[in-house]
Amino acid sequence: MVSYLDSAATTGVLREAADAACAAMLEGWHNPSSRYPAAAAAGKRLEADRSDIAAALGCRPAELVFTSCGTESDNWALRMGAYLNRRKGRHIITTAVEHAAVLETCKQMEKEGFEVTYLPPDAEGNISLKDLSAALREDTVLVSMMLVNNELGTVLPVKEACGLVKRFDRKILFHTDAVQGFLKVPFTPKGLGVDLLSISGHKVHAPKGIGGLYIRSGLNLPPWITGGGQERGLRSGTEPTAQIAAFAAAVRICKASMNADRAHMEHLKTYTLQKLSEAVPAVEVIGKGEAPHILALTLPGYKAEVLVRVLGDNGVCVSAGSACHRGKPSHVYAAMNLSKPRRDGAFRVSFDRSTTVEEIDYFVEQLANAKQILFPTMS
Ligand code: PLP
Repeated sequence: MVSYLDSAATTGVLREAADAACAAMLEGWHNPSSRYPAAAAAGKRLEADRSDIAAALGCRPAELVFTSCGTESDNWALRMGAYLNRRKGRHIITTAVEHAAVLETCKQMEKEGFEVTYLPPDAEGNISLKDLSAALREDTVLVSMMLVNNELGTVLPVKEACGLVKRFDRKILFHTDAVQGFLKVPFTPKGLGVDLLSISGHKVHAPKGIGGLYIRSGLNLPPWITGGGQERGLRSGTEPTAQIAAFAAAVRICKASMNADRAHMEHLKTYTLQKLSEAVPAVEVIGKGEAPHILALTLPGYKAEVLVRVLGDNGVCVSAGSACHRGKPSHVYAAMNLSKPRRDGAFRVSFDRSTTVEEIDYFVEQLANAKQILFPTMS
């Protein structure tokens, strides 16, 4: 049996998404920029796909630009957002719990003369608005705060934070990395009030290699890739029509079933905790994690890395810390000042619409076995 409980790392591609990609590659493969009817048809499909994804996100089609991934969207938002506001200053505010796509970009920008304030999380992984308020300065150009944390599943107070920032100074740009939030928790960019927002296809059952950046209408964000003028001149390069078609197909399905999927994942979360409390009572929850699909857990004093490897050998896919960091210790847990035993024993299980109760049962059974075999003397 295989139990895939790592949906925050990536999700399986839906059959309908793969079919849409195949059709775009084998039939509608013409260059949307060319000037004959087959190309025009490809261009029309591309714009229909953009409209559907924009509708699911809750923005206008013209506000959504395709990128290659969430990481690219984050890079563009930070770099060009700061560039757009360059006359205002060189101070950026973000949080210490962001994904590496934001943190590493900030670190690089520090080397280039920017000053970055990293807001610390509390013991639950939440970010304080008071800290944000205290960090705002005359020369602050951009604030980046993620919507859902990929390691903890915490939902950060983006709407409140954005309101606070805009009341301080409307010119400060607000970006949110919504890669883990899109189609998992309800929001719209307008409702949040943000200027820039990143999404990624492979977290919502589309293939890897496609993402999007919401750019608020009226914001004059500089182009990211210059060239043939695709994506309204903002991100040149012949459009990856197959990935876009797959992204749109996946989004149409996930949007239609969003409420039911959310209820399903919330049920799985409760079920997992209940099963664990019976079979592996030493497991503790880290942080609050309101998002339905992410559960951060720890077996204090145990080596999660070893447990996760043994689970993997038995067909259970979970991650120790964040898969995006390739086994490096979690900066999120470090920022939360988690004790060493809790940090060492930390692992993440995450679900999607296709996760089953049987997969949870198998995971709990295998975790209890692995714990017993590897650490027989520990309680
Ligand atoms: N931001 C968050 C919160 C993520 O969880 C991830 C991926 O795990 C990314 C950004 C990067 O997205 P992508 O893999 O599409 O580059």
